[in-house]
Order: sequence, then C-alpha cells, then structure tokens
Amino acid sequence: MTDRTLTMAEHDPRTADAIAAALDALAGRRLAVLTGAGVSTDSGIPDYRGRGAPVRTPMTVDQFLASEDARRRYWVGSHLGWRAFAAAAPNPGHLALATLEGRGLATGVITQNVDGLHVRAGSRRVVELHGTMRRVFCTHCGQVFDRRDLAQRVETENPWIVVPENVPLGPDGDVLPESTADFRIPSCTVCEGMLKPDVVFFGEFIPAEKFREAEQLVRGSDALVIAGSSLVVNSGIRLLERARRRRLPIVIVNRGATRADHRATVKVDAGTSDVLQVLADALPGAA
Ligand SMILES: [Zn+2]
Repeated sequence: MTDRTLTMAEHDPRTADAIAAALDALAGRRLAVLTGAGVSTDSGIPDYRGRGAPVRTPMTVDQFLASEDARRRYWVGSHLGWRAFAAAAPNPGHLALATLEGRGLATGVITQNVDGLHVRAGSRRVVELHGTMRRVFCTHCGQVFDRRDLAQRVETENPWIVVPENVPLGPDGDVLPESTADFRIPSCTVCEGMLKPDVVFFGEFIPAEKFREAEQLVRGSDALVIAGSSLVVNSGIRLLERARRRRLPIVIVNRGATRADHRATVKVDAGTSDVLQVLADALPGAA
C-alpha cells in the first residue's frame, strides 16, 4: 500500500473519487496554483469568509488615509496581532506547493493571502496579489520598511503596550484593540510621512503589474489549481476565466461552495493541507 492509498483511505468515498479525478486531470501538466485564506487556516490564521467566521468590517483605504483616528485604531490592532501573526508557521499545504514547484510540477503560486507563508515554506515564484504584511512603506517618499523593525519601533515608542497572548487573530493578523487614545502612530524615519502596510486595503485595486504577473504565470502553465478560496474576490474569477478560455483543466480544492464550482473540471470539497499533500505525493513526473 502506498502513502497515497493510505491517505486517500481516510477520505469518504465521494472525496476520494474527486481526488482521483483531480489527479487524472492534472497528471503530466505544469500547474499554476491560486491560493486563498483557506490555505492558511491550519496555520492558525482564520478565514473571515469561511464558515463560522465572525462578521467583521475591514477598514477601507479611504478611512485609513483620511482619518488619524482610524490610522491609530488600525496600527494598534495590527501591532497587537503582529507577533502572533509572525509566529504562524507554514502548514503541510504550503509545504506541498513548494515541493510541487521544486519538482518542476508547479510554475508557482498566486496568492490572495498577505501572511507571507508561501515564501516561508520555500515557494520561489510567489505572486502576492494583495501584497504582504511583511513590508510597510511610506506613502510620501516610498521608503520601504521591514515589519519586524517597525514592530520594534512601535514598542519602543509605546512602552505601555502589552501584547496579549492567544489573542483572536484577524485575517490580516490584527486584533480588535481596547484602547488607542495614547498610541503614537509610527511614521517614516526618512521624511516623517504616513506609513502604510504593503497590502491592498478594501476599496483599493490590485496593482495592474501584479495582476499581469499572475496572468503570465497562468499563461505559462497547463492547468490551474485553486486552493482555499471561495472566489469571492473578482481577480480570482478573472484568472479562472483566463484558464477556461484556453480550455485548461481547473481543479478547485475548498471546504464548502465557491462562486465557480460549476466552472471547474473537478471540485474537491475538503481541506487544502491534506489534499495538496496528496497531490504532491501522488502526481507523477518531473525531477
Ligand atoms: Zn518617507
């Protein structure tokens, strides 16, 4: 009995059939992979669109830019969650995708996540559609800062801040702050301009060159795997349509329905850590 049959034996018959169909559809092809929040839930980062997620209203870019109060709230919450967020480790799903790329079976990963876990798992070609929390930049002079350094500075300037343990994390690694009145908002060390995390806020568009990079990755592939995304975000649907126009096999791996189940070649309704591992173990070929 191989590892593959061992793993698949744990699935109910319908899921096992879907995984087998996915393997058939993907065998011998170079995969482009699009990932969403569902890929990171096993790393302890909740999916705010997933089942059972608390309803939250994210801050829009207009609120952030227009109001110092909003920025203060944002930075306190973001800072309090940062440590737990930074401590999250890649899970078997992230590692499986890095393995597939290492073996020449995947061309890279396009992700809607801002947690940086694909990079940390060892994926080399990663298109972060919505940016990354690992970087902060100055909206005035463009200077880029490492989030770890900024977190140090925030703590130095706000020594009263206590980072709670086991805080409930938001998808961007933020928590809801209790009190923000005394918080000193970090500013650019070069020009004292306004800092902003290098992420696409609600109400902002994905930079055009970033989306083109994602399109190129799909164009250089023979199949598309969508993992852990319910495809609520339009950029995901647009990439899926690029693949469909070229009649590429499309496999969706997601717990629960997505907006495009009916457009997929195969839909696997299961957790991504498990299924991506099966794909990495069982897909034949390459190095
Ligand atoms: Zn600056």
